[in-house]
Amino acid sequence: MKRLQTYDAPGITVTFDPNVCRHSAVCLRTLPAVFDVGRRRWVAPEAAAVSEVAAAIDACPSGALRYVLKD
Ligand code: SF4
Repeated sequence: MKRLQTYDAPGITVTFDPNVCRHSAVCLRTLPAVFDVGRRRWVAPEAAAVSEVAAAIDACPSGALRYVLKD
């Protein structure tokens, strides 16, 4: 069981559960500035508007990506 990953940024905290991901790459295609597996920290929520990050995560078909909005 791989552990849950947490990516914190102003306005939003993103979590990723690698055990659930179906590797559909929807996230990578939707918002490549934020989701980039070429980086060690592959989720960079601060690289786009909070609303864009939330919309991309809402499109994740597996539920591997989730978020909590701050305030
Ligand atoms: S959109 Fe969701 S299921 Fe698809 S690669 Fe990204 S995290 Fe995995």
